[in-house]
Amino acid sequence: MVNGYKPATLDEALGLRRDTDAVPYAGGTDLMVENRPGVSYLFIGHLPELRQIRADESFVRIGAAVTFTQALESDLIPAFMKEALRRIAAPAIRNAGTFGGNIGNGSAKADTVLIEYVCDARLRLVSARGERVLPVQEFYKGRKALDLAEDELIAEILLPKEGLDNYYYKKVGGRNALAISRVSFAGLVQLDGERIRHIAAGFGAVAPTVLRMRDLEERLEGKTLAQAREMIPEMLSLYGERMELTTGRVSAEYRKSVCLNLLGDFLATLRTSSASPS
Ligand SMILES: Cc1cc2nc3c(=O)[nH]c(=O)nc-3n(C[C@H](O)[C@H](O)[C@H](O)COP(=O)(O)OP(=O)(O)OC[C@H]3O[C@@H](n4cnc5c(N)ncnc54)[C@H](O)[C@@H]3O)c2cc1C
Repeated sequence: MVNGYKPATLDEALGLRRDTDAVPYAGGTDLMVENRPGVSYLFIGHLPELRQIRADESFVRIGAAVTFTQALESDLIPAFMKEALRRIAAPAIRNAGTFGGNIGNGSAKADTVLIEYVCDARLRLVSARGERVLPVQEFYKGRKALDLAEDELIAEILLPKEGLDNYYYKKVGGRNALAISRVSFAGLVQLDGERIRHIAAGFGAVAPTVLRMRDLEERLEGKTLAQAREMIPEMLSLYGERMELTTGRVSAEYRKSVCLNLLGDFLATLRTSSASPS
């Protein structure tokens, strides 16, 4: 049995996805820690089509095999995403780990995925049959459950080009740089003067998928910053009632209180210009 393929082109890779059971991988930082005897692998990390960072009129388009280090060095990647990238593990993992692998692993601890949720990013999936684009929130069906057909690959992450400047990001981990997130929080606000046009708040590493409650975010839209600050006790109580967190090495109650503290801090420090206090 062949235990590995290294296609020369994306088309060849898609043919192998269609015709074999080979598991795709790029950096291997998630996959190689698993012991899967008898599995064959499809290496895609070298494919030029998946290694580009580009921009079109509306989106920054990040190839699935772009590494975290490559993204940190690119002027096209928004500062909001770079906040999260800088806090991923140590340089060796950042040099090998990719955006596609971070998504493909299906974990709510994935740091780039939290930013993608809060930015309402889209994913472009490709197969020998064609391609489709869908919101990242729709791609995640649950813990390790992805809307990825057996013959598909994640090709690109589409981040909106506009409206990402006024953000907030905090990652609370057990062991600073080498920590996989225990709790992470990202917030984004878009303002018309003092009034909130759009707001997003996402929690990572605390539930089967990244947690966002769009209906609660909508309560703040149309309010002034001062009105939003007055609503903090009410918002914390609404989020608190709805949050059902998974228990990990740290208790669900502890994680919930960290989440609510981060949300409260985000709302209390909303301002008219860009700033992340982290
Ligand atoms: C010590 C250590 C520290 C870590 N710290 C962090 C951290 O701080 N934050 C964090 O978010 N992660 C962390 N990780 C996890 C990991 O590095 C990231 O999830 C990384 O993004 C995985 O990318 P990769 O290219 O190595 O994935 P791979 O291991 O190559 O693949 C991961 C999964 O995605 C699938 N996949 C890969 N590419 C595609 C594609 N294009 N289409 C479809 N499926 C695909 C694979 O089949 C596999 O299931 C850490 C890992 C280690 C070992």
